[in-house]
Amino acid sequence: RREMYRVDFIPLEKSPSGDSSCKPRYKVNEQLNKKISLFSGDITKLEIDAIANAANKTLLGSGGVDGAIHRGAGPLLRKECGTLNGCETGEAKITGAYGLPAKYVIHTVGANTLRNCYYNCLHTPTKNHLRTVASPCISTGVYGYPPDQAVEVALRTVREYLEQNHEKLDRVIFCAFLKSDKELYETMLPAYFPQG
Ligand code: ADP
Repeated sequence: RREMYRVDFIPLEKSPSGDSSCKPRYKVNEQLNKKISLFSGDITKLEIDAIANAANKTLLGSGGVDGAIHRGAGPLLRKECGTLNGCETGEAKITGAYGLPAKYVIHTVGANTLRNCYYNCLHTPTKNHLRTVASPCISTGVYGYPPDQAVEVALRTVREYLEQNHEKLDRVIFCAFLKSDKELYETMLPAYFPQG
């Protein structure tokens, strides 16, 4: 049986206490805190409703997280992606996940439009009545978006989306593949999701 993680096994993020280096930028909201997780590892192992993919405009597969998702899903994913007419930067398209444990893949095309990417990676699943979603660190790999700035865009966009739409999502999982990205999230989470 292959390794996979059900959403119940992914711990809720507990911000480290006593770290005053990162001042809260939003009010404490325990209801929102309960919906946030930080997962360090391979997004293709998550058994949740939707995983986001940092794709390219053709949607026909490339390296990095896109390559991992296509390898895990198998050739039927490429086949479905081939029917979608590509995807513009900042937008998102939904497909099945085929051989992956997740139910759907949300393909987004990063660039300097990261806020739109993260917004659409939440909005596309909620439009489709999906309640648990994970996102990788979009654009911080081959594309070269500065990881510290990308983490702030991700956290701010998710916080603002949940403020408006908390009843539509049960869990948003930040998936950090690199240890350095995990550390950035650990540092910045208390600013966007402060604990009471
Ligand atoms: P981009 O072109 O958007 O930068 P990349 O795939 O090169 O896309 O990188 C995006 C992010 O995905 C990087 O932070 C990289 O570390 C991460 N990544 C690579 N493989 C995986 C994986 N299997 N699961 C989750 N994240 C991954």
